[in-house]
Amino acid sequence: MATGKINVAVENIFPLIKKFLYSDHEIFLRELVSNATDATLKLKHLTNIGEANVEYGNPQIEIKVDKDKRTLHVIDQGLGMTAEEVNKYINEVAFSGAEEFINQYKDSAKDSGIIGHFGLGFYSAFMVSEKVEIITKSHKDEPAAHWTCDGSPEYTLVEHDKAERGTEIILHIDSESDEFLEEARIRELLTKYNKFMPIPIKFGSREETHDEGEGDDKKEVKVTVDNIINNPTPAWTKKPNELKDQDYTSFYRELYPMQFEEPLFHIHLNVDYPFALTGILYFPKLNNDLNIQKDRIQLYQNQVFVTDNVEGIVPEFLTMLRGVIDSPDIPLNVSRSYLQADGAVKKISNYITKKVADKLQSIFKNERENLEQKWNDIKVVIEYGMLSEEKFYDKAKKFNIFPTTDGTYLTLDELKEQTKEAQTDKDGKLIQLYAANVEEQHAYIQAAKDKGYTVLLLDSPIVGHLLQKLEQEDDKLGFVRVDADHIDKLITKDEPQLSKLSDEQKETLKPLIEDVVPKEQYTVQLEAMDSEAAPFMITQPEFMRRMKEMQQTGGGGMFGGGFPDMYQLVVNVNHPLVSQILETKTKKKQERLIKQSLDLARLSQSLLKGEELTAFIKRSFEMIK
Ligand code: ADP
Ligand code: MG
Repeated sequence: MATGKINVAVENIFPLIKKFLYSDHEIFLRELVSNATDATLKLKHLTNIGEANVEYGNPQIEIKVDKDKRTLHVIDQGLGMTAEEVNKYINEVAFSGAEEFINQYKDSAKDSGIIGHFGLGFYSAFMVSEKVEIITKSHKDEPAAHWTCDGSPEYTLVEHDKAERGTEIILHIDSESDEFLEEARIRELLTKYNKFMPIPIKFGSREETHDEGEGDDKKEVKVTVDNIINNPTPAWTKKPNELKDQDYTSFYRELYPMQFEEPLFHIHLNVDYPFALTGILYFPKLNNDLNIQKDRIQLYQNQVFVTDNVEGIVPEFLTMLRGVIDSPDIPLNVSRSYLQADGAVKKISNYITKKVADKLQSIFKNERENLEQKWNDIKVVIEYGMLSEEKFYDKAKKFNIFPTTDGTYLTLDELKEQTKEAQTDKDGKLIQLYAANVEEQHAYIQAAKDKGYTVLLLDSPIVGHLLQKLEQEDDKLGFVRVDADHIDKLITKDEPQLSKLSDEQKETLKPLIEDVVPKEQYTVQLEAMDSEAAPFMITQPEFMRRMKEMQQTGGGGMFGGGFPDMYQLVVNVNHPLVSQILETKTKKKQERLIKQSLDLARLSQSLLKGEELTAFIKRSFEMIK
C-alpha cells in the first residue's frame, strides 16, 4: 500500500475549501459529473483516432445515493486512470489547481456572483464530504487503483479489483451536508446543471408500460427502465437547417416547463470564429410589463449549466429575452466588472446584438405581417435596444414600425412619405401626431383624422425617450400627442382662422371664464378655431407631459422634482356657445354655462372623477328636465 502526503503550501486546504463559497456547495456535483463527461468524451476521441484499443459502446454516467451508508456515487465508463495517473492528475494537478484558485480568490470571492462556478474541480467534493474515494480502471491494460483521502493532506493509494473500465467517485457525505443524501435534492441539482450534458446520466429507474404480443395475445407489460436525467443533444447543439419551427418551440418547453405562452420568434446563434458560441434566443410575449421575469437566458459551457445571470455578457436590452447561450470562451472565474471590460466578452455581446437585429430585419423583409402582428409584444425590447445600443439603433431604424390608429404599420420613412403633404407646418417641419390610448383620446384623434392627418398609436412606457432621440437627430421632424393642443396649433398652417369676437369682447370673456375655472390647474387660452370644433377643450403641452413620462421611466428628466399636472383650457371663440356665454346677462346662468362646458371638456379627457363627476351628472339632469 502506498501512502503519501500531498505537497501543498497552504497547510490545510480542506477547511478552507469547506468554508469557501458556502452557498455554492452544491456545485460539487456538477464538477464531478463534468469530470465523468470529460473522461467519457476523451475515451470517445481516443477510440476514434485509434489510440485506445477498447469498444466505446454506449457509455452512460450513473449517480447513486446510499442513504444508510451515507455515500454518494458518481460512476462513469470513461477512460479511467492508472495509479500513476491518479498521482499525477489528482495529487498534483487537481490539488495545485485548487490551491491556486483559493489563493487567487480568497478575498474577492464573496462579492462576485460568478466566482466559484469553475476552478475548484475535483476538490470541490471536499466541500460536502468527510472522506472521498476514487476507484478507477484505466482503458490501458493495468490494474485498477483505489485512492482514499479523509480531508487531511494525507492519502492512500492501493490496487483494486475493479474489472470494468471507468471511474467511480465515492463521497462520504459529512454531517453538515445531509441534504445531498436526499434523492429529491440530487435530482434537482442534476436537472439544474446537467439537463443538457452530452452523455446520458442515469439516476435511479422508472416504470414504463409497453405493448407485447400481437392480436388477441396483445397485452400491456410494465418494464423497468433507466431513468435518464438529461437530453444529450439539445436543439442548440444542432445546425439550424436540421431544425423545424416546431423543434424550436418544443425546446422552449424543455427549457421552461412552466411557461405556457408560445415564444414569438427564435434566433439561432452559431459562430466559431473569432470566438465559439452557440445558442438559441427567444422573444417571449412581454406586453408593456417591464417587470423582471424569472425565466431568464441560461449560460452554458459545453452543455454544462453555469448561471442564469447573463448580465455583462448579453447587452442589457436583450436580458428580457429567454433561451440559451453556450460558449467556452467566456471567462467565468472573474468578477462582473472584469467581464464587462473583457474584449472577448464585448465581441460576444456585439455579435448577439447584431444577430438579433439581422433576424428582425429578415422577418421585416420576408414576413412583415408576422412582425406587425407581434409588434406589440416586442416593441419594448426594440425601443430599449434602440435607446441603449447605437449599433442596434442604426439597424433597427429600418424595421422599427409605428402602428397607426387605423391599424396599419409604417416605418419612419414610410410615415414621412405618407404625411409630408398634409402634416408639414408653416416652418417646413414635419409633425407626426400620436395618441397613447384610442378610447381616452377619441375626440382628439377624430379631430385630427377629420383634417386628413395620420395618427400613430404609441403606448409603450419608454417611447417618449425614442421620440426624443428621433427629434434630436432630425430637426425637421416633431412628434406631438393629439391632445397637446387644439388641432390648428398642433400643426400650424399659414392660413389662420378669423375670429368672430372682437378684441374687446375677448378681453371681457377671459376673466369671466378664469373666475370659474380652478386657476392652479388650468390656464385659459382663447383661440379662433373652426366653429365646428369643440367650444371648450383641455390640452396638455407636449413638452411637459413627455418630460414627466420620461422621468417616470428613468433618465431624460432635466428637472429634479416631479412636474405638477398643468393643463390648458382652450376656448374656441368661434363657437356659438362661447358667444352665448358672453351674451348671457345673469351672472349665475353664465357661471353655470362655463362650469358645465369645463366639465364636458374634462370628461372628454377622462379628468372628471369622483365627487365632481357626481355633481356634474346631477346638474346635467337638472338642466334637461
Ligand atoms: P479539470 O477537470 O479542470 O481538469 P479537476 O480538478 O476537475 O480539473 O480534475 C483534475 C483531473 O483529474 C482531470 O483533468 C482528469 O485528468 C482527472 N479526473 C478527474 N475525474 C476523472 C474521471 N472521472 N475519470 C478520469 N479522470 C478524471
Ligand atoms: Mg473538472
